Amino acid sequence: CGIIGVLGKHEAAPILIEALKRLEYRGYDSAGIATVNGGRLDRRRAVGKLVNLSDILVHDPLAGKAGIGHTRWATHGAPTVDNAHPHQAGRVAVVHNGIIENYRELRAELAEAGIEPCTETDTETVALLTQHYMAEGAGPVEAAFRALDRLEGAFALAFLFEGEDDLIVAARKGSPLAIGHGDGEMFIGSDAIALAPLTDRITYLEEGDRAVIRRSGAEIFDAAGRPANREIRRVEIDSARVD
Ligand code: GLU
Repeated sequence: CGIIGVLGKHEAAPILIEALKRLEYRGYDSAGIATVNGGRLDRRRAVGKLVNLSDILVHDPLAGKAGIGHTRWATHGAPTVDNAHPHQAGRVAVVHNGIIENYRELRAELAEAGIEPCTETDTETVALLTQHYMAEGAGPVEAAFRALDRLEGAFALAFLFEGEDDLIVAARKGSPLAIGHGDGEMFIGSDAIALAPLTDRITYLEEGDRAVIRRSGAEIFDAAGRPANREIRRVEIDSARVD
């Protein structure tokens, strides 16, 4: 189970796959990536080893310089392609590590608005809720924040949006998440090992933090919604652990 994200200068798919390989040590049963290309949000997913996802990408490539990726350790729903992340609902794609404890209540509320899930996962509920708020007129950041306000449980989450080539929203509650600072590029990852070849300048999100990430930098808000200053550290990773 791992999360990776990139707002880069180069094609995102190979960068995402390489970073997911460095998260393999955590264990996983399926994997997937989503990118935004010319505003268009699209995704590829596969059960089993990352090589299965790479094979799909050879035949059915995914272009775009902004993307998110995920290795899944299933907690809610069998390890199938449908249940693999990223989960997409309309104009938003979501990757998630952890558990959304109140997803049943949220599902019931969405059902009253005529919105039904397509998967067995707790995670899809986050995508459906965010898309629901966007359909009501909220912008992407506001919609993601409103959805985050509703979530109970432990999670690291990243959101990617249709029409937004320069935006990732990320949040941390109970699962670690690191932001990587590049030169006109930004990254997120479950840990600094995933980001090691990309950058050694890391900001660790603190408990309850939310981040609005663009290539120009990250705006971080604390659990109370106040702008938060989080230090950028230089993190040295033993190269032996990276390869
Ligand atoms: N609870 C989510 C699922 O089962 C995320 C699992 C994970 O942490 O990879 O899909």
